[in-house]
Amino acid sequence: MYELLNYILGDLMTRLINPFDMAVTQLTSVAKLIDLDPNILEILKKPKREIIAHLPVKMDDGSIKVFTGYRVQHNDARGPYKGGIRYHPNVTLDEVRALAMWMTWKTAVMNLPYGGAKGGITCNPLEMSKGELERLTRRYTYAIREFIHPYIDIPAPDVYTNEQIMAWIMDTYSALAGRNEPGVVTAKPIELQGSEGRTEATGFGVMVTAREAIKKLGLNNSEITVAVQGYGNVSYWAAYYAHKWGYKLVAASDSKGGIYNPDGINPVDLLKHKRETGSVINYPKARNISNEELLELSVTVLVPGAIEEVITEKNADNIKAKIISEGANGPTTPKADKILFEKGILVIPDILANAGGVTTSYLEWVQNLMRYYWSKEEVLSKLEKRMVDAFECVYRISREKNIDMRSAAYIIAVSRVAKAIELRGIWP
Ligand code: GLU
Repeated sequence: MYELLNYILGDLMTRLINPFDMAVTQLTSVAKLIDLDPNILEILKKPKREIIAHLPVKMDDGSIKVFTGYRVQHNDARGPYKGGIRYHPNVTLDEVRALAMWMTWKTAVMNLPYGGAKGGITCNPLEMSKGELERLTRRYTYAIREFIHPYIDIPAPDVYTNEQIMAWIMDTYSALAGRNEPGVVTAKPIELQGSEGRTEATGFGVMVTAREAIKKLGLNNSEITVAVQGYGNVSYWAAYYAHKWGYKLVAASDSKGGIYNPDGINPVDLLKHKRETGSVINYPKARNISNEELLELSVTVLVPGAIEEVITEKNADNIKAKIISEGANGPTTPKADKILFEKGILVIPDILANAGGVTTSYLEWVQNLMRYYWSKEEVLSKLEKRMVDAFECVYRISREKNIDMRSAAYIIAVSRVAKAIELRGIWP
């Protein structure tokens, strides 16, 4: 009885880790490693600005629903704020704060001339019509219009937002500004000055970093197996490139459950099944498994590509993958990180592994500002080079100091941001 209670309580506690506390814990432990000036640590622990807006939206049935939207701007010492907008029922201010801080580290580790921000609206986009989503998006853009700008803060998509939503943001902002401002938001449709390669960028980057890790571990290319948790934009493209490069995709999942076939799964065929049925489950060429089972499969590469806190102290010890490439933001808790490091699992941290998205957003923004556009090959080769260089840099520091890749990435990122703050000084 006592054990059962303990288990239930433990499980509840694990799920109740506040993501912002997790982000601050990560920052504080790196501050110790680099002997960070305590004044700068105090600055970095808090976002510079937080916008909360209550958004009345006319629903299709004639009623008015008031949604809550956020934009948290964590730091802009290295350049304009940058980061996505998430539409999800579980969005909270603390989650957006954590995600904003992680964006500051992500742009810094990639050496992009940006800071970090994140937005979110607490809503369930899966239950809303296209018209309702459009009205919500335009209302949100209206509410944050004074705080976004191509040189101030540049939003992009995140969980459950897409290029159509970016198009509405661009249109609303441009209409209010009285001129076309494509550079105010990234990951727009190609027809509206989006960039070639942006759609596949995050998943592509996730697999590029996994491929570099495979090389470092000296693993045989023909024996690589991959499991992806989630089958949204990030996981799908990670699976696509894994398959293209001759690795075997053996498992995938979504919120309804997972599927597994040790002989391999064709990612394009699986996407077709998901589009037809609404889920990856019941795919005729694989057997159903749970999301928990997927995480514990014996594979070469595991891609947690959906949401936060799926690898915790509860299941970290059961993970059998050799490499984890974090497609999602914050999928591993600090306690789980320690366990994985002791087990010798190479974790490519989110701020590096999934940085292909924001890096290609940067390439899109550069194209928008100069009004000159590159081909897909050009964009993806620029992206690949940046991902490989950043991976090398993080890997080298992790080996030199005998620390995990997340700590190494944080050392690089936090040092760069701290230096920028120090050089700029505090004013007024
Ligand atoms: N939402 C993505 C991320 O977490 C992309 C951000 C962007 O492109 O600005 O990195």
